[in-house]
Amino acid sequence: PKSNAPSNLDDKIRVCVRKRPLSQKELAGSQKDIATVVGSRTIHINEPKQKVDLTKYVEQHSFVFDDVFDSDANNEKVYQRTALPLVEYIFRGGKATCFAYGQTGSGKTYTMLDGAHGLYALAARDIFALLQQPDLSHLAAYIGFYEIYQGHLYDLLNKRKKLFAREDGKKNVVIAGLQEYAIDNVENLMQVFDYGNTIRSTGSTGANEDSSRSHAILQVVLKHKKNKKKFHGKLNFIDLAGSERGADRGDSDQKTRMEGAEINKSLLALKECIRALDQDKRHAPFRQSKLTQVLKDSFVGKSRTCMIATISPNQSNSEHTLNTLRYADRVK
Ligand code: ADP
Ligand code: MG
Repeated sequence: PKSNAPSNLDDKIRVCVRKRPLSQKELAGSQKDIATVVGSRTIHINEPKQKVDLTKYVEQHSFVFDDVFDSDANNEKVYQRTALPLVEYIFRGGKATCFAYGQTGSGKTYTMLDGAHGLYALAARDIFALLQQPDLSHLAAYIGFYEIYQGHLYDLLNKRKKLFAREDGKKNVVIAGLQEYAIDNVENLMQVFDYGNTIRSTGSTGANEDSSRSHAILQVVLKHKKNKKKFHGKLNFIDLAGSERGADRGDSDQKTRMEGAEINKSLLALKECIRALDQDKRHAPFRQSKLTQVLKDSFVGKSRTCMIATISPNQSNSEHTLNTLRYADRVK
């Protein structure tokens, strides 16, 4: 991509990077910031290295994306260039997905699903405002919230009930049995969402006590008020499992290893499916993971995808940061 021209907000696939600030703890531990954002689309990673004779040097890696957000960018700014175009798109009848990808602690939840300020909440604010307009008042927004853990779907708004994905006659993916709420204001959305989040983090069924091991999906579907079966558009916000979980870390614990293998499989399938979509290939490997099966209808046909790769800027995470940037680079 050309780094000097601004990227197009209407592209079918957009890949952006967000750098979080160093935390108090990292600052207190004199951690170095190794990520430098240059202009609006370029990021340099200055990776400290050592030769065999122990002399130290710095290797610089440079990447260009559709947008790179520096650590001082707030969620509103990120929103304007990532999810906002998707909000407009679903009102025109499209299906869209906005992902956060990155290692645990890099800012996925902060970006996507954080309380009243995450991208999902900013999008909801605009969606509810649009639904007030006379020419759109025939539509209503339905909210569902579920997670994918070890290849299975669990409803976060209904006691972690197990769910199944299927396709309807019109090639829409339907999560059968998913509890959906018709919501028209941000306060009600917050309540429903907070409830789902307690379910996600408490692991009441013992399935998953750590949010970095599951993919969380907040789904907003626009339907016709008079006929709920009549689908108009769909927007998914996805807080993916920590990307480091997919790496082979030589874990001795079998449960952790199995989780890692499943996460690895789904993140690889996700990358392949998005790439296939960009090249208009017919055979994307949707069936390779539950995540991509669920997202299938958001990838084919009238669809758009925005990925936000989140990175930690501290030196001790340089390897994970480079892995994240390479993954994002391959997607585009
Ligand atoms: P993840 O979901 O990827 O594991 P979190 O979203 O929980 O990471 O972020 C880790 C910590 O960093 C949290 O305390 C969060 O508030 C903080 N943080 C993340 N991104 C930012 C940011 N852009 N600005 C300020 N603080 C951030
Ligand atoms: Mg998180």
